[in-house]
Amino acid sequence: MMSKDFKVLIHEKEIGKRVHELGAQISEHYKKKGAECLYIIGVLKGSFIFLSDLVRSLSIPCEIDFLEASSYGASTVSSGEVKLVRDIRFSIKDRDVLIVEDILDTGHTMEYLLKHLSAQKPKSLSICSFLDKPSRRKTAVKADFLGFTIDDHFVIGYGLDFNNRYREVRSVVIYEPN
Ligand code: 5GP
Ligand code: MG
Repeated sequence: MMSKDFKVLIHEKEIGKRVHELGAQISEHYKKKGAECLYIIGVLKGSFIFLSDLVRSLSIPCEIDFLEASSYGASTVSSGEVKLVRDIRFSIKDRDVLIVEDILDTGHTMEYLLKHLSAQKPKSLSICSFLDKPSRRKTAVKADFLGFTIDDHFVIGYGLDFNNRYREVRSVVIYEPN
């Protein structure tokens, strides 16, 4: 648990409700398209809690893989330089792919991932992000499915970390170093 009292931005109950709605929205979208199985790619590590709740809210079958991108290091400011630390293991050619990310900030990470994954010729490629900080965007990236839009705060919890800590915090809270 937390050693300090951080300010709650999005309460766990609100998160649960929204993730359930997102699962329904995504399922309906892909059913309408005639997709029979969704290929979900989680961006480690921040998306792991969101992803595990989201896939259990889907009413369409899915396969799950992960990749890991890193851009931050031990800082709350993005370096803009994206590295692929771990790649997916199986082919996504002709698959309906949904990238599941924790947060869109500058958009550099997602821009890099879109380029990397679209080169493998999936049938479709969409983005589902738990959070969005549009005021910080430096690229044209947009989420197709989105949990919450937030103001420019550095947040932790529900999978999001500071220095690899606080991922287990149930609500999304504002991190204020002191
Ligand atoms: P971008 O490349 O869009 O600037 O940054 C994306 C990545 O930066 C996210 O996947 C996430 O790992 C990290 N990030 C951006 N904003 C925040 C934040 O407010 N809190 C945390 N914990 N990570 C963030
Ligand atoms: Mg991330």
